[in-house]
Amino acid sequence: MKATAAVMHRVNEPLSIEQVDLDAPARNEVLIRTAFAGVCHSDLHYMEGLYPRACPCVLGHESSGVVIAVGADVTYVKPGDHVITCVSVFCGECEYCLSGRMSLCVSPATRRPADGPQRMSLNGVPMPQPGHLASFADHMLVHEHAVVKIREDMPLDKAALIGCAVTTGVGAVFRTAKVEPGSTVAVIGLGGIGLSAVNGAAIAGAGRVIAIDRVASKSNLAREFGATDFLDASTVDPVKAIREMTGGGVDYSFECVGLKPTVEQSFRMVKRGGTATVIGMMPTGMRFELSGAEILGEKRIQGCAMGSNRFRTDMPRFVDFYMRGLLKLDLMISGRVRLDQINEAYAQLKTGQVARNVIAF
Ligand SMILES: [Zn+2]
Ligand SMILES: [Zn+2]
Repeated sequence: MKATAAVMHRVNEPLSIEQVDLDAPARNEVLIRTAFAGVCHSDLHYMEGLYPRACPCVLGHESSGVVIAVGADVTYVKPGDHVITCVSVFCGECEYCLSGRMSLCVSPATRRPADGPQRMSLNGVPMPQPGHLASFADHMLVHEHAVVKIREDMPLDKAALIGCAVTTGVGAVFRTAKVEPGSTVAVIGLGGIGLSAVNGAAIAGAGRVIAIDRVASKSNLAREFGATDFLDASTVDPVKAIREMTGGGVDYSFECVGLKPTVEQSFRMVKRGGTATVIGMMPTGMRFELSGAEILGEKRIQGCAMGSNRFRTDMPRFVDFYMRGLLKLDLMISGRVRLDQINEAYAQLKTGQVARNVIAF
């Protein structure tokens, strides 16, 4: 079948809206009519060539939709089911999957064999499917282990945000760092993932949630997501300010930018025994430096892959959080755009002024 998609042909060039071909679902695949796709920052890294991707390809990885067809062996979903997609496609058989760390699964079993027809093609040429999804298209053909079924009273625009930003930000708090009630938390960078981390820290019962950004106008937004304090990093040194405010540093910091200075700050602002979790995607080849003396205080720094999720159980819980009013997803959506406005939406994202735009199909 044909799908309308935003195709990346080369880095640093606008995406172009074209008709691509989707194959029929293989036995373990699901065909989805895309409802909404989030304009997430990590796709910008691919567009700017900071993470190499084979082109042409279709990006997009934060999406919701409705199942319209399934392969012969699929029993988990049926046509009509509402789903959220996730890049953490799990094989279900490797060491990571079997030890409950399926967000680290890299098994090739969830891809089609390289020597046969691919899920997506353009003018007869097979196209790679970055992140197993390709959400910047009005239809998606994915492995059944890339979707989770959700309750049908959940609005699909908010559901899309759970596909990446919420699962990453809240998951980093609950699963990667395991923040305890009453502890102190700092979050650097208030895009979709940072605001989700602030929201997650508030839900986890953190005693103090200090939100940090260089855009001062995000102060009120941060407080609505549960921040107790806001620091404008364009006017104050956040490490010095946090050490003064907390008497030595926070228990947990979350870096949601992906740059050397902010990663180093995230480590320096935790107290002895504290943990810095780096969620931001640093460009390939970027390095950071830590002080050897500081490591002696049992300070830790750790990476985070999609919030260490077990998305088939996590995402329905996040849906319930939203329906109860705990997750502030209405505030996170800055605006709705059409697929043919995707380049403008990415230009707006680069300004740092927006939380999250979603593409409505
Ligand atoms: Zn994302
Ligand atoms: Zn696996």
